[in-house]
Amino acid sequence: MKKTNQYWDATAEALSRPELEALQLARMQSTLQQVSLSSLYQKKYSEAGISPASVTSLDDIRRLPFTTKQDLREHYPYGLLCVSKDQLVRLHVSSGTTGQAIAVLYTRADLEGWADLLARSMYMTGARPGDTFQNLAGYGLFTGGLGFQYGAERLGLLAIPSGSGNSKRQIQLMRDFSTSIIHIIPSYALRLMDVMIELSVDPKRELQLQIGYLGAEPYSEEVRRRVEEFYGIRVFNSYGLSEMNGPGVAFECSYQSGMHIWEDAYFVEIIDPDTLDPVPEGVFGELVLSTLNREGMPIIRYRTRDITRILPGECPCGRAHKRLDRIQGRTDDMFIIKGVNIFPMQVEQVLMNIPEIGNNYVIHLERRNNIDDMIVRVEVTDKIFVEDMRHLHRLQKKITRDLRGELQITPCVELVEPNALPRSEGKATRLIDRRHL
Ligand code: AMP
Ligand code: ZN
Repeated sequence: MKKTNQYWDATAEALSRPELEALQLARMQSTLQQVSLSSLYQKKYSEAGISPASVTSLDDIRRLPFTTKQDLREHYPYGLLCVSKDQLVRLHVSSGTTGQAIAVLYTRADLEGWADLLARSMYMTGARPGDTFQNLAGYGLFTGGLGFQYGAERLGLLAIPSGSGNSKRQIQLMRDFSTSIIHIIPSYALRLMDVMIELSVDPKRELQLQIGYLGAEPYSEEVRRRVEEFYGIRVFNSYGLSEMNGPGVAFECSYQSGMHIWEDAYFVEIIDPDTLDPVPEGVFGELVLSTLNREGMPIIRYRTRDITRILPGECPCGRAHKRLDRIQGRTDDMFIIKGVNIFPMQVEQVLMNIPEIGNNYVIHLERRNNIDDMIVRVEVTDKIFVEDMRHLHRLQKKITRDLRGELQITPCVELVEPNALPRSEGKATRLIDRRHL
């Protein structure tokens, strides 16, 4: 593997568009041979009357049926398996909050490939041997723990598997081992910020942090800005999902302008979730992904339910791998109230732009006398709460006005004291819909 200053793996990262597409077709064709060994795809392709050999161009892929989360649930635990069980060395289970779990099975080669993708991603942002990398993500069935751990070790970072929670010890580890890079879920980054404020720790003065990888849940540019300013770091967006290994599917480069999706490993499409037709570059739709070099459990045309778009144009870093825009939310996150479609992220964008608002909020949807209400509970910052009622009232009015401007409906805004709302150290629950209870 050639290592230049710019690339961790030039053989993949420096490919031109035509080279990348030729590689994708070859890998897609062998993946299609491989998936035919699984009971799910045998059934799917015989029902659709398609033989894998009929795919002779990248466009032909669009004729293949989609794979859904429901397929993965119904074929739990081994229905997608394409190798003998004795070749498997790891199992992860998706952290999905509803319904039956889905299992992801890895061979040794799958784990190697995954670790390489993460090593490549981190290297791209400037991580180098000599850096201390603290991984504040949950270890265990969640892929953000072990995924980053193996990637960081592959790259040669000193990797601390500190897991999520126990914030005081996290800060101590950061101090003792001069942590320069962290991986952390956005809501925990906000929570840790509050803990540091409580303990009067100024990370810019007292810690050596330089880089943060934030992902695993949607967050806004406003949250990125808050985290960058408070910790004095550069934040890179990191995207992945268990079905596609976990993190390392798409990652921001040093230009922080969209996440390069590693197209030597994943085939990417964006579709209209209603018509299922492809949408043009630059238009938002549902992300559909296929694995291109996985042997244990390859997946073809997986509907991720994540809403994003391909950013048009070339990245100044020179990589031809396409860039995904920030994930706006999931098709199943979107809620409809008073006829308006809303993503929780739109609410967050408004809130996090207001300096008097703290780092935590939650949206409640309720139905009273057949009328839907949207209640937005927000924590104010420490400084505000001691001040007088008139000020609070003005702030409440401003938030309501700003939200109405963005959403076209008028929510009910409730201000609460700092630390009054429930905290999570894993993925945050931002929306509680009680309308159908
Ligand atoms: P899981 O497989 O349970 O870890 O969850 C994967 C899901 O987390 C994805 O399908 C996205 O909905 C969400 N996710 C992961 N990374 C990001 C990110 N950088 N921005 C927004 N959502 C993300
Ligand atoms: Zn780039």
